[in-house]
Amino acid sequence: MHEAGLVAALAEELLRLKEREGAQRVLRFTVEIGELSGVDPEAFRWAYEILREMYAELKETEMILDLVPARFRCKICGREFPGDYFSLCPGCQSPEKTLLSGEELTLREVEFEVADV
Ligand SMILES: [Zn+2]
Repeated sequence: MHEAGLVAALAEELLRLKEREGAQRVLRFTVEIGELSGVDPEAFRWAYEILREMYAELKETEMILDLVPARFRCKICGREFPGDYFSLCPGCQSPEKTLLSGEELTLREVEFEVADV
Protein backbone atom coordinates (compact mmCIF):
# COMPACT_ATOMS: atom_id res chain seq x y z
CA MET A 1 0.00 0.00 0.00
CA HIS A 2 1.93 3.04 -1.19
CA GLU A 3 -0.52 5.41 0.51
CA ALA A 4 1.33 4.77 3.80
CA GLY A 5 4.57 6.12 2.33
CA LEU A 6 2.77 9.13 0.84
CA VAL A 7 1.11 9.93 4.15
CA ALA A 8 4.45 9.64 6.00
CA ALA A 9 6.01 12.12 3.56
CA LEU A 10 3.01 14.39 4.03
CA ALA A 11 3.43 14.34 7.83
CA GLU A 12 7.09 15.29 7.48
CA GLU A 13 6.10 18.19 5.25
CA LEU A 14 3.41 19.36 7.71
CA LEU A 15 5.83 19.32 10.65
CA ARG A 16 8.42 21.18 8.60
CA LEU A 17 5.84 23.88 7.75
CA LYS A 18 4.77 24.06 11.39
CA GLU A 19 8.38 24.71 12.43
CA ARG A 20 8.76 27.35 9.75
CA GLU A 21 5.58 29.14 10.88
CA GLY A 22 6.55 28.86 14.54
CA ALA A 23 3.10 27.39 15.19
CA GLN A 24 1.96 25.34 18.17
CA ARG A 25 -0.19 22.95 16.23
CA VAL A 26 -1.50 22.13 12.78
CA LEU A 27 -5.27 22.53 12.99
CA ARG A 28 -6.29 21.19 9.61
CA PHE A 29 -5.06 20.80 6.09
CA THR A 30 -6.43 19.94 2.69
CA VAL A 31 -4.99 17.41 0.26
CA GLU A 32 -6.06 17.45 -3.36
CA ILE A 33 -6.16 13.94 -4.79
CA GLY A 34 -6.58 13.60 -8.52
CA GLU A 35 -8.78 10.89 -9.96
CA LEU A 36 -5.81 9.64 -12.01
CA SER A 37 -3.16 10.06 -9.30
CA GLY A 38 -3.26 6.35 -8.46
CA VAL A 39 -3.99 7.23 -4.84
CA ASP A 40 -6.98 5.54 -3.22
CA PRO A 41 -8.67 8.17 -1.01
CA GLU A 42 -10.03 5.54 1.40
CA ALA A 43 -6.58 3.97 1.85
CA PHE A 44 -5.04 7.43 2.17
CA ARG A 45 -7.46 8.40 4.95
CA TRP A 46 -6.93 5.10 6.72
CA ALA A 47 -3.13 5.47 6.53
CA TYR A 48 -3.43 8.98 7.95
CA GLU A 49 -5.59 7.78 10.87
CA ILE A 50 -2.87 5.29 11.80
CA LEU A 51 0.00 7.67 11.26
CA ARG A 52 -1.32 10.53 13.33
CA GLU A 53 -1.40 8.29 16.39
CA MET A 54 2.39 8.19 16.04
CA TYR A 55 2.82 11.96 15.97
CA ALA A 56 1.74 13.81 19.11
CA GLU A 57 1.75 17.04 17.08
CA LEU A 58 -0.79 15.71 14.59
CA LYS A 59 -3.19 13.95 16.95
CA GLU A 60 -5.80 16.71 16.74
CA THR A 61 -5.15 17.60 13.13
CA GLU A 62 -8.02 17.25 10.71
CA MET A 63 -7.37 16.16 7.15
CA ILE A 64 -9.74 17.25 4.38
CA LEU A 65 -9.57 15.35 1.12
CA ASP A 66 -10.49 17.24 -2.02
CA LEU A 67 -11.02 14.85 -4.92
CA VAL A 68 -10.14 16.35 -8.28
CA PRO A 69 -11.86 14.86 -11.35
CA ALA A 70 -9.81 14.16 -14.46
CA ARG A 71 -10.28 16.67 -17.28
CA PHE A 72 -8.72 16.82 -20.72
CA ARG A 73 -8.58 19.31 -23.57
CA CYS A 74 -8.65 18.05 -27.15
CA LYS A 75 -5.55 19.10 -29.11
CA ILE A 76 -7.51 19.14 -32.34
CA CYS A 77 -10.77 20.98 -31.58
CA GLY A 78 -10.06 22.42 -28.13
CA ARG A 79 -13.05 20.83 -26.44
CA GLU A 80 -12.70 20.09 -22.71
CA PHE A 81 -14.08 16.84 -21.36
CA PRO A 82 -13.86 14.42 -18.40
CA GLY A 83 -12.43 10.95 -18.93
CA ASP A 84 -9.30 8.86 -18.56
CA TYR A 85 -6.12 8.23 -20.55
CA PHE A 86 -8.01 6.17 -23.13
CA SER A 87 -10.88 8.57 -23.72
CA LEU A 88 -11.48 9.98 -27.18
CA CYS A 89 -12.67 13.54 -27.68
CA PRO A 90 -16.50 13.49 -27.64
CA GLY A 91 -16.46 16.25 -30.27
CA CYS A 92 -14.10 14.95 -32.97
CA GLN A 93 -13.13 11.46 -31.72
CA SER A 94 -9.43 12.39 -31.62
CA PRO A 95 -7.20 10.60 -29.08
CA GLU A 96 -4.86 13.66 -29.05
CA LYS A 97 -5.42 15.44 -25.76
CA THR A 98 -3.77 17.38 -22.95
CA LEU A 99 -4.38 16.55 -19.31
CA LEU A 100 -5.77 19.60 -17.47
CA SER A 101 -6.30 18.08 -14.03
CA GLY A 102 -6.55 14.73 -12.30
CA GLU A 103 -2.98 13.66 -11.51
CA GLU A 104 -2.38 15.90 -8.53
CA LEU A 105 -1.48 14.94 -5.01
CA THR A 106 -1.10 18.36 -3.48
CA LEU A 107 -0.97 19.68 0.05
CA ARG A 108 -2.95 22.91 0.35
CA GLU A 109 -4.51 25.28 2.82
CA VAL A 110 -2.63 24.32 5.95
CA GLU A 111 -4.07 26.04 9.02
CA PHE A 112 -1.91 26.53 12.09
CA GLU A 113 -2.56 27.50 15.66
CA VAL A 114 -0.10 30.17 16.72
CA ALA A 115 0.07 31.12 20.38
CA ASP A 116 -0.60 34.78 21.21
CA VAL A 117 2.41 36.38 22.81
ZN1 LIG B 1 -11.76 17.19 -30.39
